[in-house]
Amino acid sequence: MEEDGTEYQQVSEVVVGKERTKFIIHTKVFRARSTFFKSALSTSWNLDQNPVEFVDVDPGHFSKYLTVAYGGTPNPNFEEDQRFLELSDIYILADRLGECTCANLVMDAIIEHVQSPAHDVPDWSTTKSILTDLPTDSCMHRLMVDAYCATTSTCQEVRDDAQDETASKFLVAVAQVYRTREAEVSNDDTIKHAFTRDIRHLDRVRYHEHNESGPKDDCVGCKPPKEDG
Ligand SMILES: [Zn+2]
Repeated sequence: MEEDGTEYQQVSEVVVGKERTKFIIHTKVFRARSTFFKSALSTSWNLDQNPVEFVDVDPGHFSKYLTVAYGGTPNPNFEEDQRFLELSDIYILADRLGECTCANLVMDAIIEHVQSPAHDVPDWSTTKSILTDLPTDSCMHRLMVDAYCATTSTCQEVRDDAQDETASKFLVAVAQVYRTREAEVSNDDTIKHAFTRDIRHLDRVRYHEHNESGPKDDCVGCKPPKEDG
């Protein structure tokens, strides 16, 4: 095999959704970024290979994921009232592909959105639609629990839905966070800021996932802010 740069031009086909929408991706780039593609495209660049298929993925989500993965920045053109859902769709797909760099980038945008004073945290039906297929130890679940803990009103919607499995697990997690924070508050008054929506820069590490394709050492979001020179 020659390492002359032509391998960077090798492409692979990805077939997405029931409509079998075809996408072309750069094999080498996505093998390096995603643990999923690393194995799925492992022998691709000099062999005729069957396309990777994602029957249960929305082609629109995959297209948005590619935009973020290639562009290196979350798409700012989402409608404001759709922004949380749009970002979450990309996040869940990137997470599933083991594409930490993209997932963390999108997670930072979701954090910014959730803590923005311009709007409330997403309502429960929206939140539930995102969390239903995610494990309770996922970063997304953790973020939404923390966001709900920082508001006073929204949890009532979850309580009204308490017979639902996702809602009951969510309420247990909210209660655990409250218990932990109450203990902290009784020890140190300054920790009260934890009840506000201010998710400080350093706290982002709580919502990041890292792996060999997206190591923590390379993560801009996990680096502490430069304060002293
Ligand atoms: Zn990180």
